[in-house]
Amino acid sequence: MIDRREFGRLFGGAALAAASPALIGAPALAKGGARVVIVGGGAGGGTVARILKTEEPQLDVTVIEQRPIYTSCFNSNHFFGGFRTFASLQHSYDGLRKLGINVVTDTAAAIDTGKRSVSLAGGATLPYDRLVLSPGIDFKYDAIEGYSAAAAEIMPHAWKAGPQTLLLMRQLEAMDDGGVVIMTVPANPYRCPPGPYERACMIAHFLKTHKPKSKLVILDAKPTFSKQGAFEEAFERYYAGIIDLNLTNEIDDFRVVRVDPKTMEVQTASGTKLKGAVVNVIPVQTAGNIAIQAGCADPGGWCPIRPENFSSAKVDGIYVIGDAAIAVEMPKSAYTANSHGKVVAADILAALAGGEPAVARYRNTCWSLLAADDSIKIGADYTPGEKDGKPILVPNGPFVSQKGESAEVRRKNYAEGLAWYHAIIADALNDNTALSHKG
Ligand SMILES: Cc1cc2nc3c(=O)[nH]c(=O)nc-3n(C[C@H](O)[C@H](O)[C@H](O)COP(=O)(O)OP(=O)(O)OC[C@H]3O[C@@H](n4cnc5c(N)ncnc54)[C@H](O)[C@@H]3O)c2cc1C
Repeated sequence: MIDRREFGRLFGGAALAAASPALIGAPALAKGGARVVIVGGGAGGGTVARILKTEEPQLDVTVIEQRPIYTSCFNSNHFFGGFRTFASLQHSYDGLRKLGINVVTDTAAAIDTGKRSVSLAGGATLPYDRLVLSPGIDFKYDAIEGYSAAAAEIMPHAWKAGPQTLLLMRQLEAMDDGGVVIMTVPANPYRCPPGPYERACMIAHFLKTHKPKSKLVILDAKPTFSKQGAFEEAFERYYAGIIDLNLTNEIDDFRVVRVDPKTMEVQTASGTKLKGAVVNVIPVQTAGNIAIQAGCADPGGWCPIRPENFSSAKVDGIYVIGDAAIAVEMPKSAYTANSHGKVVAADILAALAGGEPAVARYRNTCWSLLAADDSIKIGADYTPGEKDGKPILVPNGPFVSQKGESAEVRRKNYAEGLAWYHAIIADALNDNTALSHKG
């Protein structure tokens, strides 16, 4: 059991005096045997589970995760560039189970917030005292005419890692030298804002080293993007003549509105039609369906939260963390999901200790690999605050890589990014094997 002072030491709660409110609409937690159910065993959900069970072994912690193996999206772009093996992205839940966490391989099908229970596709019903939703994303397939789950088997998204990642790689390998790869990028918000441009670098690196006559055409629904200066410099320095970037501007709307998997054609809003040998459609996204079904989402499909503890702003008594949450101004990343998870675990532990939760502090850093030993990064710390009378997460000390940085700085960034990968896998999945895995 931890007391309030110990709690502050563990979670950096120097600011315990100015405390956040406890979870609205939730019952008091009884010491010993309180039940915490977490939907989704990824960057966010795994973190909550591991911290809770490590700090409070008597808690009854269950993770409902539909897949037996976690394949991380983060660093999955490195696989396309040949900088990581697919196997190095895959992690079992043995580490969480070893801690005594009940990891149930099943799909959470419905949530009854009145009865405080989760029904599983397999038929079981799990009661809870605290519920955390960290289901990641789902896709709005109907945002692009002709795109669907079936079409994704021909034009992969690879935006949930796993078989889709392998499919895209196999297509790139099978393509003739001289083939055109098309990547379509949605408007904000979506999982990992710099992800498409890191992927562009990694695919272009593969083309440059294996199929140098080929091209990568990017059709992007937005005018500007994350880490743009440093990415564009890399496109020019490493991949000139390979990457053709088309951003939406006053003249052309490069938002893709239609695809045809039979002809491998894509069509933009301003009428451009292109045919690809490989087409990577990054779809418009929403919160994971289970969070929408639970009533946590706004009409845009994302879940608003209270910045002080990531409790749902729509449904009392539950937390929504990670990509499913819309946490203005924090981006959607594994780093932020892990950061949300730490705050939620601290909130639950505070309720259990009968104390007040600490003021929440969040952090993000996101590294993107441009070429061998050359990574850039972006990040900030965040604290709960307000903008135009609305609660937001206020960025403090933001930083972003610049054009023209030295090779030494970029090499250091790459090493940091690799170390972070190992650290987050240990933090979220209690899996230290990533530490010795070079990738
Ligand atoms: C190509 C790419 C590159 C990226 N690179 C980076 C990076 O470099 N750095 C970074 O910080 N982030 C990166 N990200 C983003 C990162 O992967 C996500 O932000 C992060 O995984 C979000 O964590 P999460 O817990 O919300 O979701 P996830 O990690 O996706 O976990 C959600 C889990 O919930 C499960 N689930 C969903 N619904 C149910 C249900 N109903 N029942 C049971 N289980 C369910 C899923 O199977 C999944 O395992 C990248 C993403 C992509 C696509």
